[in-house]
Amino acid sequence: MDRFSIPSYARTALDRLTAAGHEAWLVGGCVRDLLLGRVPGDYDVTTSALPEETEGVFAGERLIETGLRHGTVTVVLEGCPLEITTYRVDGTYADARHPDQVTFTRSLREDAARRDFTVNAMAYHPDRGLWDGFGGRADLEKGLLRCVGDPETRFREDALRILRAVRFASVLGFTLEPATAEAARRTAPLLGQIAPERLSAELTKLLCGPGAGTVLGEYPDILGALIPELGPMVGFDQRNRHHCHDLLTHTAAAVDNIPPDPALRLAMLLHDVGKPETFSLGEDGQGHFYGHAKRSVELADAILRRLRYPNHLREKAVTLIRFHDAPLTPDPRPIRRWLNKLGEETFFDLIAVHRADTLALAPAYHSRTAELDRVEALARDILAEAPCLTLRDLAVDGHDLMALGYAGPALGAALRSLLDGVLEGDLDNTRQALLAALEREGR
Ligand code: ATP
Ligand code: MG
Repeated sequence: MDRFSIPSYARTALDRLTAAGHEAWLVGGCVRDLLLGRVPGDYDVTTSALPEETEGVFAGERLIETGLRHGTVTVVLEGCPLEITTYRVDGTYADARHPDQVTFTRSLREDAARRDFTVNAMAYHPDRGLWDGFGGRADLEKGLLRCVGDPETRFREDALRILRAVRFASVLGFTLEPATAEAARRTAPLLGQIAPERLSAELTKLLCGPGAGTVLGEYPDILGALIPELGPMVGFDQRNRHHCHDLLTHTAAAVDNIPPDPALRLAMLLHDVGKPETFSLGEDGQGHFYGHAKRSVELADAILRRLRYPNHLREKAVTLIRFHDAPLTPDPRPIRRWLNKLGEETFFDLIAVHRADTLALAPAYHSRTAELDRVEALARDILAEAPCLTLRDLAVDGHDLMALGYAGPALGAALRSLLDGVLEGDLDNTRQALLAALEREGR
């Protein structure tokens, strides 16, 4: 029998339900992850106990009832919240997302049958071992995502499952079983009915998975149902010597080339989304994309707003897109300017964006990353010197200038011009040098 170590609060919950005469199992994602040797994100319990029976078993513990309508009671044990859901069968779905009603059942099999994929429909109990009514384990070993039941029916019931399928494919490195894949492609337009917040939550996980680029390349129609702007990128020939890939393939490679952080991955996904609209063919037969970064910024901003991404994430992604093809030269002066403009963290992220983009070009151009390494090393040297990068860091301040008779806009302008001098390397950031410079300017 399989034996997995599970946290004591989860074991306690199973034991207390069992002692009260109910069936109780761990279920879903945690069982899948235990079998894969991954650390489960959370543990879910499924039980024959009705919600009020569960509440009776855990009377005296902290209970959270937000999921009660769907049969879920959250119990806080040893400080850890645990979702305990009554075995249930979902009713009909009018809106491709929410079951119109849920019906409780006393059968684990019926509960498992409503779950999305066979690998998510297994249950585990430390004394009874694995319950696998739908072949989840065999699919797990083959790395396959297969709907429980008829895939088209399941995707029509709840279109979010389409995106969950490709999200799991990316995160777990799995493939979709052929009938599931075909149904997912066919029903992808139904994703239009799903709330944007739910779509973006799945999209972020998908993009941060190790198989993101592969999924993008294989299922552009599913991603395109969320972001129609990706459509024209599919198979788009850039007609440019730097590129050996069509635009979507280049994009997929760029996504894979950057660390799995949501803002960075979204920036790579959308960095060239303005290219199809800005394409022109030069006299030399080369494709050009003048102004594409600006157009990508406009489109990305609209896309990320539509998907209700938080402002800070959208702003960061858009900033990186805006400068994704700006020149980064290994020279301290422009690097000080970049650090002044973007701040340390975003500037290093921008270098990562350039590197990811470069490594998605034709192989002959990959060696250009050596220059980015120099930019990065120089930036680190500059930062190590406790540099002056903002007005706050200047060795003189507004009070010093007021004492010299400066006031109003002239004072601000004088400070800014001193900072310019320091960033350019023309002035030392010392009180003496800065005051002398003011004097030289005759003010
Ligand atoms: P994660 O690692 O993201 O938590 P998970 O499989 O646990 O993955 P959850 O969203 O936490 O995903 O859902 C828990 C379980 O509930 C799933 O494993 C699956 O059995 C079931 N489930 C979740 N969403 C759906 C859905 N839309 N349709 C059918 N079953 C679902
Ligand atoms: Mg989960």
